[in-house]
Amino acid sequence: MRVRHVFDHTLIFRFYQQSRYSAAALLGALESDPKLSSLRVLAPPIPPNEIIKKYLRQGHVTVAYSVMSTQVDRVSDEVREIRSQFGNTVTLLAGGPHASARPWELIDAGFDHVLIGEGERAFPEMVWRLMNGSDVRGVEGVVSEHMETYPKPRDLPKVNLDDYPPFALDLNIVGPVEVTRGCPFACKFCCTPFLAGGTVKHRSVESIVSWLRLAVQKRNFKRTWFLSPNALSFGGSGGRAAPEKLKQLLSETTSIEGLEEVFFGAFPSEVRPDFVTRDTLQILRRYVSNETLQIGLQSGSDRILEAINRKHTVEEGMMAVRTTLDSGFVPHVDMIFGLPGERDDDVRANIETCLTLIEMGAKIHAHVFLPLPGSAYENMPPGHLSEETRTTLGRLAKRGYLTGSWGTQERLAQKLSSRCI
Ligand code: SF4
Repeated sequence: MRVRHVFDHTLIFRFYQQSRYSAAALLGALESDPKLSSLRVLAPPIPPNEIIKKYLRQGHVTVAYSVMSTQVDRVSDEVREIRSQFGNTVTLLAGGPHASARPWELIDAGFDHVLIGEGERAFPEMVWRLMNGSDVRGVEGVVSEHMETYPKPRDLPKVNLDDYPPFALDLNIVGPVEVTRGCPFACKFCCTPFLAGGTVKHRSVESIVSWLRLAVQKRNFKRTWFLSPNALSFGGSGGRAAPEKLKQLLSETTSIEGLEEVFFGAFPSEVRPDFVTRDTLQILRRYVSNETLQIGLQSGSDRILEAINRKHTVEEGMMAVRTTLDSGFVPHVDMIFGLPGERDDDVRANIETCLTLIEMGAKIHAHVFLPLPGSAYENMPPGHLSEETRTTLGRLAKRGYLTGSWGTQERLAQKLSSRCI
């Protein structure tokens, strides 16, 4: 077996806005690994063919993609281009949500190896092995051509978030700090339980503070966001809030010298309605800079909420919105249209709930149901809006009460559905 010289290796991590949070975390893991200090790492936001051409003259090139299910067509087109121009002289790696849910699809698209599950430990190990000409198939979670079985993310060893940086400060690829991973709920439209597991883990407050201090020093960070499937669950077991931990997180991060603003419970995170209480929102109000709170209600029909396994009612959502308004935040409420099994009366309940929420002072973030790979509903029919619903959403959007990309999501839902197996 030929041993490659470690100085000859270039890793090109194709950077997409859509998967920027994964890119920040994975590149952070690479740059913090002392074994990889001689690796040349690039993260171009454009198709990498010209860069590949340049660095192939200097040694081996690996190109990595973190693939979300909504990006598969675009990524597959790029991979086809790379293969037709460079053949097998380039190694192509894929990870991310789609890799975990449908690894064979990415192998068929032309990737050499696909990584299932969390990438912080396994991805640097794969790159290290490639640099040394060893077999990456020994890395847990790696799927390659001709492998007949592959694991599920839940079967793989878990990563401790504190062992890795939340972002790549040297490359200046930064994003929100992921403070919580995993969710004990099992909403049927969501792929988080499949991808990240039903057990919740948190980054420690010490780790969050220390990385943010460094980001202020090195990258002049002025503000930060936190990423969590359910922000108000921070520090607890996932099933209920841990207000003391939440307070510690917010009081310590907002005391970091030079960090002017901390955003919590707002986009890109959200909170479950059943976690919204006066006490927790008082803690938030004291520390955070966001004026809004992102609340996942998802449907205005109790029948649908039960069917999708949300484990809360419409009334609990309404109470959360009232508490949010009373605490001085503007509630931004996530609602999904076109969920499986939705009848006309459920659609009407959805619209009526939206109108009531708007009257109360909330804003609506409307979504169309996407049959996401890895979710319990991955094989369900794609979300679709009636003309009447589309008109109503458009009218509310024009008046500034509602946002969303329902047209794009309807098209994506169709595409995802057409790839269902
Ligand atoms: S939608 Fe939220 S609460 Fe439900 S499973 Fe997904 S992350 Fe958990």
